[in-house]
Amino acid sequence: MNRPHGYARYKLDGCRCYPCGWAVAQYNDARDHAIRRGQWHPYMDAEPVRQHIRNLQECGLGLRSIAVAAGVDRKRLQAVLNGRPERGTPPQAQVRPALATAVLAVEPSPDNLPDATVINAVGTTRRLQALVAAGWPQHYLAIRLHMTDSNFSATLRRDRVMVRTARAARSLYDELWRADPHEFGVDNQAYSRARNHAASRRWAPVNCWDEDTIDNPATFPEWTGMCGRPEGSYIHERIGVPLCPPCLEARRAHNRQRYAEKKSLSVMEATG
Ligand SMILES: [Zn+2]
Ligand SMILES: [Zn+2]
Repeated sequence: MNRPHGYARYKLDGCRCYPCGWAVAQYNDARDHAIRRGQWHPYMDAEPVRQHIRNLQECGLGLRSIAVAAGVDRKRLQAVLNGRPERGTPPQAQVRPALATAVLAVEPSPDNLPDATVINAVGTTRRLQALVAAGWPQHYLAIRLHMTDSNFSATLRRDRVMVRTARAARSLYDELWRADPHEFGVDNQAYSRARNHAASRRWAPVNCWDEDTIDNPATFPEWTGMCGRPEGSYIHERIGVPLCPPCLEARRAHNRQRYAEKKSLSVMEATG
C-alpha cells in the first residue's frame, strides 16, 4: 500500500522527495499567510482551513478526531467543509481566525491517528534502540509491548509500523528513558548484554535525541552535541562512532576551505 506523494506521504511515511517537500512547503506558506492575515481581520478565508481538513482526512483522521484535537465543535468543521445542507447553506467562505488557527495547528500524529494507520517507523525504532542502548534488554521491552521476542526484533528493522505500535513504544520510552533498569529487576549481565548489543550496532542512545527530532526522518542522532560543526568530527573519533552525515558534510567543507587557502597561498608565493 503506497500513499501518493504529497502531504500525507510526507507526514506519515516521512518521504522527503521533491514533490512531497513542495506540497508541504506550499501548504505551510498558505497556512502562515492565512494566520498572518487572521491577526488583522475579524474573518479570514476558509479555503486554507478546508484544505487542511482534507489533508488531515487524507492521513486517515476523522472529522471527530480533528475536532477533538482542535478543541472545536465537529459541526463547525462540517459547516466549513460542506456547509449546512439542512439549512441550504454552502460551505462557509470565511471563518473566525480563532477557529482557523485551532484547526491549522492540528498535525497528524500517533496521538490522533487511528490505531491501524501505517506510519513510518523512525520514531519507534529510534526509541526502542535508545532504550536497549540504555541497558533495557530486548526481552523485557518485548514483554512490556506484548510482543514475542522475534516480533520485537522484527519491529526494530521495519520501515513502517502501525500507529498502535508507535504509541505503545512512545509511552514505554517516556516511562523508561531515564529510569534505572536495575530497579526494574534487570540483572547486571542482561544490562551489559543490552548495552553491548546496541553499541555494536551503533544504536543511538537516549541523549542523542530530543522530542523535537526523534520522529523526524530528516534528522540524525546528535552523537557529539556538536554534530555538523567542525568540533563534532573530533568527538566522533574520540568516542569511536563513525561520522554522522552532518559531521561528514562539515568535515568536507572544512577540507575544501583548507585546500582553497593552501592554493591561494601557493599562488601568492609563486607570484611574490
Ligand atoms: Zn514523496
Ligand atoms: Zn556528528
